[in-house]
Amino acid sequence: MIIEKERRITVIGTFDVAVVGGGIAGVASALAAARNGARVCLIEKENMPGGLATLGLVVIYLPLCDGMGNQVIGGIGEELLKVSIKYGPGRIPDCWREGGDVSQRKEIRYMLEFNAASFAISMEELLLENSVSIFYDTRFCSVVMDGNRIEALIVENKGGRSAIRCNAVVDATGDADVCYVSGEKTVSVDTNRRAGWFYSYDGNRIELHKLSDPLYEPTPPESRTYAGDDWRDVNALNIDARKFILERIHELRKTRGNDSIYPLLIPAIPQFRMTRRLEGQVTMDERHERYYFKDTIGMTGDWRKRGPIYYIPFRSLIGTKVKNLVAAGRCISAHGDVWDIMRVIPPCAVTGQAAGTAAALLCQENQGDFSCLNIERLQSVLIEQGTIIEPEWCREKE
Ligand SMILES: Cc1cc2nc3c(=O)[nH]c(=O)nc-3n(C[C@H](O)[C@H](O)[C@H](O)COP(=O)(O)OP(=O)(O)OC[C@H]3O[C@@H](n4cnc5c(N)ncnc54)[C@H](O)[C@@H]3O)c2cc1C
Repeated sequence: MIIEKERRITVIGTFDVAVVGGGIAGVASALAAARNGARVCLIEKENMPGGLATLGLVVIYLPLCDGMGNQVIGGIGEELLKVSIKYGPGRIPDCWREGGDVSQRKEIRYMLEFNAASFAISMEELLLENSVSIFYDTRFCSVVMDGNRIEALIVENKGGRSAIRCNAVVDATGDADVCYVSGEKTVSVDTNRRAGWFYSYDGNRIELHKLSDPLYEPTPPESRTYAGDDWRDVNALNIDARKFILERIHELRKTRGNDSIYPLLIPAIPQFRMTRRLEGQVTMDERHERYYFKDTIGMTGDWRKRGPIYYIPFRSLIGTKVKNLVAAGRCISAHGDVWDIMRVIPPCAVTGQAAGTAAALLCQENQGDFSCLNIERLQSVLIEQGTIIEPEWCREKE
């Protein structure tokens, strides 16, 4: 054990809202906070926005509908779906376009495949158009606390170690890094399967391979599971995924009788699905299917099957200890199967929009505590800005 020496560091910025993590949730949070009048920064350790959706090559924008013909996600979730294909390729299913055949919406889900490069470029444009200050290549490392509030974030980049002051923080790291470091309660899982989505080229065709060990079956004997909050496992998943990709290439060469098949593009970040999350004031689980919470800030369908819907309570985005911290994306408080539903792109955008809007309102209200935020106001701003919160269909009230 060694003791790190105390040192003075420079404050490189002061913002109303600091969003940590520039994946889908972070981008949605930053846009929402900026559009609601906050001075916003987005801190991202990599060098482009999108997280798993771009750098991770997870290029399927899963459904914005419930599989029964009803759209359940609007707002920034729907905006980003459109932005994902702005520079193509990709197409919104005809029946989900304006004037499309509504009767087909039960059969065809509102989803699409996008191109990671186009999406990263268009997302970055959108952030800049909305005056979000982007800090790329900047890793969140620690916090400076003032009692139970975060006063500043400690970050590291090419300029060394420095601080960013802020009034409210959105943890959109996917791994609840800010929650964990600031002493908020978190939960970790080590159940991640080996995965390595990649593109191959055979001299003629570019092909996407959704390479992964099966999700809902026992782990294959030659494989294992990984924890995303353990550096050894992060290393291991990176290395094992690349071996996995190479094995698949050899297999493809053999089965297709084509020695010219090679890997063209591989994930630039490890493909962890569920790593560490906030243990929030409410944890969503299987019992909450169609359960309407009084602090609902959005909803989602189940990407895996048709029918179920989940209302998302604001309390699943906040903990009990750190007053000015809100989580978004795959590290919000959801358990088991419902975590599996909440971790995909569309609900990440929904919780991102809610977290960013809440953070901007917190600053406007000169409030220091998310637990005391005026929820009716948050809900009405979200609805005004396209979020679907209370459609007329079946629901039980909390
Ligand atoms: C193999 C696999 C297949 C999947 N398939 C699909 C699919 O088909 N469709 C779908 O919708 N979803 C799919 N998902 C899930 C989905 O892609 C992600 O869960 C979702 O994109 C998560 O978004 P996020 O913004 O919460 O987190 P992430 O995308 O993980 O973004 C977090 C961001 O924070 C940054 N970050 C992390 N720590 C720090 C730090 N300390 N400092 C600064 N920056 C930091 C990261 O670099 C990253 O950019 C899949 C996931 C995996 C792994």
